[in-house]
Amino acid sequence: MKHCDVTVVGGGPVGSVTALSLAEAGLHVRLFEKRPVLGSQERATTFHPPTLELLEPLGLTEPLVRAGLVCDEYQYRDAELGRVAVLSYDVLDGLTPYPFRLQVEQSVLTGLARDRLAAHPRIDLHLGVEVDAVAQEADRVEVTAGGETHTSRWLVGADGSHSLVRERCGVDFTGRTYPERYLVVSTSLPLHDIFGDLSMVNYVAGSPDWHVLLRNPAGWRMLFPLRPDHEISDADRPGEALRHMRSLCPSATAQDIQHVTVYEVHRKVAGTFRTGRVALVGDAAHVNNPLGGMGMNSGLHDGLLLVDPLVRVVGGSADVDVLDEWAARRREVALNFVGKETDDNWSRVRESSPEQRAEVRRAWRELEADADARRAYLRRASMLDSLEVVSG
Ligand SMILES: Cc1cc2nc3c(=O)[nH]c(=O)nc-3n(C[C@H](O)[C@H](O)[C@H](O)COP(=O)(O)OP(=O)(O)OC[C@H]3O[C@@H](n4cnc5c(N)ncnc54)[C@H](O)[C@@H]3O)c2cc1C
Repeated sequence: MKHCDVTVVGGGPVGSVTALSLAEAGLHVRLFEKRPVLGSQERATTFHPPTLELLEPLGLTEPLVRAGLVCDEYQYRDAELGRVAVLSYDVLDGLTPYPFRLQVEQSVLTGLARDRLAAHPRIDLHLGVEVDAVAQEADRVEVTAGGETHTSRWLVGADGSHSLVRERCGVDFTGRTYPERYLVVSTSLPLHDIFGDLSMVNYVAGSPDWHVLLRNPAGWRMLFPLRPDHEISDADRPGEALRHMRSLCPSATAQDIQHVTVYEVHRKVAGTFRTGRVALVGDAAHVNNPLGGMGMNSGLHDGLLLVDPLVRVVGGSADVDVLDEWAARRREVALNFVGKETDDNWSRVRESSPEQRAEVRRAWRELEADADARRAYLRRASMLDSLEVVSG
């Protein structure tokens, strides 16, 4: 492809879907992904209603829903007391065509996008090619990758939390790091049979033993906090995972572990989401606590909501002001919606004093009983409100 309107750096869920959407809208797009295949990473498993709405015009929602588990309620539990409250999504009927939380691995979305990208006439796909330099001129952006220089009119940085694009553009990335790291275990244990009363998504409060139990098509995922001073080597991870699993299911064995990872958790936002001819989206622009499943979702919103203003700017029917509006709104959502909601989820689940935990339980039971309050809460938890902020 000689002519290129937009270079996208990074083929995670956000870069892949943004590239596809830009190409479907008529632009010529070049996508660089340093890994040899798209969709090899497993982190996000939750898709919220507005994301499913935004993916619909690309034809991705229907196959995604078919591959996933429709979760029309979720549960708040206490590590000692068991089930506290179940929040049903029925109160979102009429507000969205998808009144549920879809549980499916992010690799399913990236896989669906990959098949479309590979066959697309306006996509130039470079897999296994790392971008190592970015430079801007008045009328173009240049990237160096695989020893060659490639030119386009615009660039989208979707290269994750350690973004080279962000760093090379001199954009700061500030915020905080959470005190605990998270141990995430994928397991073949049939937790639904073992506990008998779980929903597909369960936040379990406790101090210090809070945890999250999530069901996916491939099995269950368990998330536990690790104390900040608790160093574990890669070799110790399975043993650590087993110790945590046995605190819930004493009969668990090493064979029940499918995969273990340990994550540092940050709440950080880029100083700007647009600098000159470069836009930042997804984890390159913001990272947050995974409790609530909003990181990838809001990254997909960044990318998909960028398409219309960028197409108009490239086509000459709009001024770059529309990109500044996009950048300011998305940054506002990252700072004051996603960052806040996920932080609140974290505070609630790890509340330490018995009085505060009793207060949190009371609040959840009220939400369960009061449909109006639950609707207001689930509009935020399912990110419907964040999209309204963006659409103005
Ligand atoms: C335990 C855990 C659970 C989570 N669960 C959820 C959830 O349920 N729902 C949710 O919404 N979010 C969740 N998240 C967050 C979510 O995983 C991320 O927000 C999401 O993966 C970000 O996607 P991205 O495409 O922006 O970045 P990434 O997924 O990091 O992709 C960036 C891509 O860029 C490539 N790349 C990097 N540098 C270069 C370069 N120089 N040249 C070429 N390619 C490059 C990388 O190889 C990578 O493929 C979770 C996170 C964690 C840690």
